[in-house]
Amino acid sequence: MSAKLIKGTEIREEILEEITAEVKEIKEKHGVVPGLVTILVGQNPASISYVTLKIKTANRVGFKEIQDNQSETVSEADLLALIDRYNNDDSINGILVQLPLPKHIDEKKVLNAIDPDKDVDGFHPVNVGRLMIGGDEVKFPPCTPAGIQEMIVRAGVETSGAEVVVVGRSNIVGKPIANMMLQKGPGANSTVTVVHTRTRDLAAHCLRADILIVAAGVPGLVKPEWIKPGACVIDVGVNRVGEKVSEKTGKKIAVLKGDVDFDAAREIAGAITPVPGGVGPMTITMLMKNTLKSLKFSLGLA
Ligand code: NAD
Repeated sequence: MSAKLIKGTEIREEILEEITAEVKEIKEKHGVVPGLVTILVGQNPASISYVTLKIKTANRVGFKEIQDNQSETVSEADLLALIDRYNNDDSINGILVQLPLPKHIDEKKVLNAIDPDKDVDGFHPVNVGRLMIGGDEVKFPPCTPAGIQEMIVRAGVETSGAEVVVVGRSNIVGKPIANMMLQKGPGANSTVTVVHTRTRDLAAHCLRADILIVAAGVPGLVKPEWIKPGACVIDVGVNRVGEKVSEKTGKKIAVLKGDVDFDAAREIAGAITPVPGGVGPMTITMLMKNTLKSLKFSLGLA
């Protein structure tokens, strides 16, 4: 039997509508809306397209959006001064610096200069520490892992006591989602295993998983025979495996493939995310959620 599809595109719409309604209510009661600034340095085409999508989404949900474009040659000191200005601007609740930055700028220094209470990406060491502690300490869970957890919960998959296996140990996906799923609380309480390039028997670990989260960046890494019948499979991988002409626009677009052999896995899993249209749309959605949360913290509403 074919698995239930967990569609990020649909869950995104639900969440963005919830955010829009909440922004409207806060505006009526408190006269303010969330403020998000996106700092883009240079003209990297991929960065421009990410930033454009972030701005479009922020505008859609009723945020105040500032796009701050800086030249490729901006100095590190000037960038740090800019961040300091937004850190001290009460109308700004979230600060995003689009990566990568030019080579003459120390990325770590710049990201660590963001006020942790405006770090809606959740990558500042203070927020990583808060996530590790869990519970009320958590302010801004990183967006892709937060999206993954939200999808699992909204798909009605039981997490308490579930065996969760995470493939990949990156700081932006693998480690944080593993940490989130083992916390005490709703949408978590799982028994978590993290596997990676040095793991001895990847297949045996995956086969134990009630919830298999794959973030390796290797197309088709997870074979159907590694999947426990009925398991929930979250495929985070986005791999460009070729190009095709879009039927809609007639333009060349990338052919994307996940880390899981989707067609075969679908016949074994109980629920599965597609690529594209699965985890992908959740990241910006959760960024909006974190920015709204930041305003709510500042108003004492969260
Ligand atoms: P990364 O390269 O930083 O980390 C990949 C991890 O997978 C590493 O820890 C590595 O040990 C592990 N790994 C790689 N090959 C493996 C193998 N053969 N066996 C076992 N483990 C292996 O990648 P990342 O930033 O975590 O991203 C992973 C994938 O998720 C990429 O395809 C990326 O494009 C995608 N991604 C998607 C979103 C989104 O949809 N919003 C967000 C972030 C990342």
